[in-house]
Amino acid sequence: MKVAVYPGSFDPVTFGHIDIIKRASSMFDKLIVAVLVNRKKTPMFNYEERVELIENSLEGLDNVEVVHFEGLLVDYLKKNNYKILVKGLRAISDFESEFQMASVNRQLDDDIDTVFIMTKVEYMYLSSSIVKEVYSFDGDISKFVPEKVNDKMKKMRRESDE
Ligand code: ADP
Repeated sequence: MKVAVYPGSFDPVTFGHIDIIKRASSMFDKLIVAVLVNRKKTPMFNYEERVELIENSLEGLDNVEVVHFEGLLVDYLKKNNYKILVKGLRAISDFESEFQMASVNRQLDDDIDTVFIMTKVEYMYLSSSIVKEVYSFDGDISKFVPEKVNDKMKKMRRESDE
């Protein structure tokens, strides 16, 4: 069985991520979406919420599992005997850091291969941080994130306005 792992912060999940998940899930028997728990950063959503938002935004993709992990990605892969990583590539600016990450992971564990999937042109400049920025200025994010994420963020805004 060919299993691949798609890691990221997903704070929150965007249509760019969902597109990569859909395409990767059709290439592999199973896709694990692995949400990074980084205690050094304060995310907008805690990891339980990020996992739930991804799960609720996947329709009919029954070979996708959403998990969280903490620590070094290669350790998580080794522990579970996973060998393939999936990453999304956006603008050229992603290339350098992704190339660096893939090379470092390769040096830490020679068994790991990273597969890059190119973003759809319309998602080329979409990132979780830009979504948070638009949201912070009360902008409409419905074109960028799945409905469940938009609903949750709208609810958060209503609650903070009260
Ligand atoms: P972000 O940069 O949006 O905070 P994450 O750390 O959650 O992203 O990213 C996880 C993975 O998803 C990375 O491989 C990243 O390149 C990819 N990714 C993020 N946004 C997009 C997008 N719009 N199109 C394609 N891939 C993306």
